Amino acid sequence: MSIFNEHYFELKNGFLFAEVTRRVEEYKKQHPDRKVISLGVGDVTRPLPEVCIQAMHKAVDELSRSETFRGYGPEQGYAFLRQAIVDNEFAPLGVNIGIDEVFISEGAISDCGNIVDLFDQDCVIGIPDPAYPVYMDSNVMNGRAKNINILPINQDNGFVPQIPEKHLDVVYLCYPNNPTGLTMNREQLSKWVEYALREKCVILYDSAYVSYIRHEGIPHSIFEIEGAEKCAIEFRSFSKTAGFTGVRCGYTVVPKELTFNSEDGRTISLNYNWNRRQCTKFNGTSYISQRAAAAIYSEEGQRQVRENVDCYMKNADLIRETLKKYGYDVLGGEDAPYIWLRTPDGMGSWDFFDKMLNELSIVTTPGSGFGQSGEGFVRLSSFGRPEDCEEAMKRIEQWKY
Ligand code: PLP
Repeated sequence: MSIFNEHYFELKNGFLFAEVTRRVEEYKKQHPDRKVISLGVGDVTRPLPEVCIQAMHKAVDELSRSETFRGYGPEQGYAFLRQAIVDNEFAPLGVNIGIDEVFISEGAISDCGNIVDLFDQDCVIGIPDPAYPVYMDSNVMNGRAKNINILPINQDNGFVPQIPEKHLDVVYLCYPNNPTGLTMNREQLSKWVEYALREKCVILYDSAYVSYIRHEGIPHSIFEIEGAEKCAIEFRSFSKTAGFTGVRCGYTVVPKELTFNSEDGRTISLNYNWNRRQCTKFNGTSYISQRAAAAIYSEEGQRQVRENVDCYMKNADLIRETLKKYGYDVLGGEDAPYIWLRTPDGMGSWDFFDKMLNELSIVTTPGSGFGQSGEGFVRLSSFGRPEDCEEAMKRIEQWKY
């Protein structure tokens, strides 16, 4: 017997972005004279909003004096941030969330991965394909590879995962979606909530890109849908909203009404047990990060955040429209910072990735890295600098592949 958790051997690929980086580094080594433009990994490029910088400086000063020094904070996060989230993210939507239903994290990726701790080994899991890789990989690492049901997102279902006929215990949904850049409307999301309530299924709803929604009628939170507080957990992040990919801060909403009956008739609360899990395995998010996050909720903070988001969405508009103009088949990018580009002539995702890298020095992300249904697509991210996006589009205009 090996002491190693051999479920790791069941992981399909190396981490997608590591392979992208490897190929790009190799290319740069061979072509040191070429300027590589990345429309690949979804990392932000604009500096933090000024309100966050000021809040962090102030927090550092507080930590430098014994009267205001803080050590370990609450595992669930400081009340000042939890309250600000309730008041600014949910109350304006008419969603009634209590601060003890909000758990501050060091980013959504950890919680999206760690949440699997709450579920039984034999749970039947639904994962859309393509999807953000952590949903699949964290379940595989925990030994649930055999319980995973793939929910394809493709042309046949209009790029919306179909409500399954069979029972699922847990399902992941991510809207606005990474990687397709598409959204779900209220009616589509309501059908999922109805399914979850009927089947006693938990929806793990990842809304890391909520700030990019621009059109009316698109839910900003799953809790806008009636009954979702009885069947859903929502993950959010300050990474793409306020440029916190390096600062690290996010949060997870676990409603108190989300309960289950155990076989021996007890009522089990996921809120209670997530708190229990966090108090055991997590010592809280940095005070400095939490102060920076809270700063975005001032009027000026909201203005600065909007400015960043608008800048990225201007890139998205340029990328989408340029590609369309030259006859490419594109999806997304209207309420999300990603554009989902169908590769021409049925070319494989990695082949088209290599072609764009070698011929245009442009980095994309191969769709197949997000799952089998992503084959034949690449994802373009709008998080680059505007001048780089413009140059990338000029290269594409001249390419006319
Ligand atoms: N969820 C989705 C869909 C993402 O694309 C990302 C980051 O790219 C995250 C979660 C993780 O965000 P964070 O930086 O808060 O860990």
